Amino acid sequence: MLPEKTLAWGLSRSCIRELAEYGARRKAEIGAENVYDFSLGNPSVPSPEIVNASIAELIKDNSVNIHGYTTAAGILSLREKLAADLNSRFGLELTPDLFYVTCGAAASLTVTLKAILFPGDEVITVAPFFPEYRVFVEAVGGVLKVVPAAPDFQIDLDAFEKLLSDKTKAVIINSPNNPSGAVFSEDCIKGLAAIMKRHEEKTGETLYLISDEPYREIVYGDITVPCTMNYYDDAIICYSFSKSLSVPGERIGYIAVSNKLNDCRNVYASIMGAGRSLGYVNPPSLFQRVIERSVGQTSDISEYQKNRDLLCNGLKAIGYEYVEPQGAFYLFVKALEPDALAFSERAKKHELLLVPSDDFGCTGYVRLAYCVATSTIEKAMPAFKALFEEYQAKG
Ligand code: PLP
Repeated sequence: MLPEKTLAWGLSRSCIRELAEYGARRKAEIGAENVYDFSLGNPSVPSPEIVNASIAELIKDNSVNIHGYTTAAGILSLREKLAADLNSRFGLELTPDLFYVTCGAAASLTVTLKAILFPGDEVITVAPFFPEYRVFVEAVGGVLKVVPAAPDFQIDLDAFEKLLSDKTKAVIINSPNNPSGAVFSEDCIKGLAAIMKRHEEKTGETLYLISDEPYREIVYGDITVPCTMNYYDDAIICYSFSKSLSVPGERIGYIAVSNKLNDCRNVYASIMGAGRSLGYVNPPSLFQRVIERSVGQTSDISEYQKNRDLLCNGLKAIGYEYVEPQGAFYLFVKALEPDALAFSERAKKHELLLVPSDDFGCTGYVRLAYCVATSTIEKAMPAFKALFEEYQAKG
């Protein structure tokens, strides 16, 4: 006998994984340049120079020290930099002892959820959402409840309020959003915070707002991402450098606990305990030091904006429908038939790899990750046109 849940997660075939495997086979058959692969959220822009320069510099140093264990919460001088960065950008008063450095956003979320949830507790998130949330919540005995997607991909606050119950322990939001690219507006965050505060007053229990922010710096034009901690006290930020510094394989991020969060010192202690029980020990030592030197920098986001504009304008001219993304590097496009999986299968015939929306908790869309070479978007346009015309011909 094996634990039912872990076995099921291991055996389940997510659409993204299926597409990645299909794409690898197809590229080997007809050449990578002939497959228009929009399936993966792997950054396509190099890290800023400081990242590689820091690695080169650091490995000249005492390697015993560089490769040794660090404190579980992360090197203090790094946590000081992280606190100073968030404080100066968002007017907060966080202290380094409320930061816990992690192996990326996935670890930030699993550690946080393990720290706060009891079996049977409910966690609310908003569709469309990162599919791993379900695994992370259920892994600690929680139950995920989903607010249906709003037409503009902001939060349907009435639907959210209806999902709150005595069992609701936390809310996970993700803005800029994977897969819609939406950035939740200040009004939306204020509205969410007001409902959550009312619920706390009613139940007398802490309701945690977990903000999953791996795309925080990837926004376009004059869009800003409201910092949840400025609107709600019982807030925790789960951050990752994977996307902003183009280092997803290096596994580095952090958890920041608000200094205004109810019983914040014990919540932080429970986070330390959760990290310990999950066996993380400490985040990668070399990369903690790289990040310490890189805080405040990002990869060249303008490349993604160029891709977004090219893709949006090209698809709009053909007749596709979408809500223009304000951040991240994903475009959520309406499928040309109600069954997104069938649409994605049909797109494959045109060598277009598009992720159906069902895994993200809503139907009828496909996700296009535009963190690709600009030439891929240019070359894919005739295929998008042919796909569109095929549906028009079907009537
Ligand atoms: N949260 C969201 C919304 C994501 O899109 C991702 C990765 O794509 C993660 C969390 C996990 O990020 P990391 O690679 O830093 O663990």
